[in-house]
Amino acid sequence: MPVGTLASVKGVPQDILEELGVQILLGNTYHLYLRPGIEQVRKLGGLHRFMAWPRAILTDSGGFQVFSLNELRKVTEDGVTFRSHLDGSSHFLSPEGAMAAQIGLGADIIMAFDECTEHPADQARMRKSMELTLRWAERSKRYFEEHKGDVPWAKNHVAPDPSSGGPAKDAAGQFTSYAGEGARVTQAAAELCSARQPRAAVSTLEEVTQALFGIVQGGMDRQLRKESAERTIGIGFPGYAIGGLSVGEPRTLTREIVESTLEHLPADRPRYLMGVGTPEEIVEYANFGIDMMDCVMPTRAARHGLLFTSEGKISIKQARYAGDDSAVDPNCGCRVCQRYSRAYLRHLYAANEVLAQVLNTVHNLSFYLDTMRAVRHSILLGKETGSSCVRSQPKP
Ligand SMILES: [Zn+2]
Repeated sequence: MPVGTLASVKGVPQDILEELGVQILLGNTYHLYLRPGIEQVRKLGGLHRFMAWPRAILTDSGGFQVFSLNELRKVTEDGVTFRSHLDGSSHFLSPEGAMAAQIGLGADIIMAFDECTEHPADQARMRKSMELTLRWAERSKRYFEEHKGDVPWAKNHVAPDPSSGGPAKDAAGQFTSYAGEGARVTQAAAELCSARQPRAAVSTLEEVTQALFGIVQGGMDRQLRKESAERTIGIGFPGYAIGGLSVGEPRTLTREIVESTLEHLPADRPRYLMGVGTPEEIVEYANFGIDMMDCVMPTRAARHGLLFTSEGKISIKQARYAGDDSAVDPNCGCRVCQRYSRAYLRHLYAANEVLAQVLNTVHNLSFYLDTMRAVRHSILLGKETGSSCVRSQPKP
């Protein structure tokens, strides 16, 4: 999932995202809550309509961003008091508030409010934090169940016109609704799960509503991760995320915690690893059994001139590319590689042209999306890739 923090994947218009085959975007509740404000987006019909994005959206709960504020926050049983990074104004976010915000934005998949445990943390701290996340998960679910009908598109839902392949529009040519995308994405992820685990039949989400996912915490402790997974499953969600990783721990530890946590999450529900990773890592985690990932890496790196290619990373700002007439990646079919040379991209970057950020981001997103397409293809083929989850399939 490319990250569109402020209802925008920085530098890339929505029609190009569609052309790239982006199926789902991530939006950040914390940032949208501060600017332009939840009520503003809700009044404009919800996030899909506001940003003219007809495909699926996932929003985070705001928890991770609030916890990143460190000095600017205070955590209690009720929720988190924090100061805006924009103007220093004071705000309060609770599980109920985070749900209300995400219902107001109207993303297809929304996340329970959790506490991201810092790293390093001692045993007592990790347990205390995990217990708090579990209580918040229950409160998140309770609030969601009582208020899910308040989503901006709930009452005027019009199914997308399948013949046009696009979203339905009203007489004024405005998008009327995008509801149901979340169900489709959850179902698509579930189908991949089923490809891995044929025994698991996943019920279609008949009710058109948002899907609320639970988040597993537990720090870097395998036992706590197991307990967090089991008790989060006990609360019951249509999908599960692994949170609290990529917080400064070594990559080998991330891998170890992901692998051990996955064992305890149902294979017939989407399993979402938050905030990873490099192209190599996303392939590896997908092979472990992860179905969904998000990361700012392809877009943020692009803005810093770092490009991912089939032959490794290149830093386009380097003088060595000044006379290089070849494409960024000879094996990439994206619109940037088809048209522009490394020399031109290097020039745009050196001259600080806005187009440099746009083109670099389009290529990196294309590379990531191609990588995931290849992963999906190999899962659906049931191809032997050497990974445990694929190996566990019965041989034909
Ligand atoms: Zn390319």
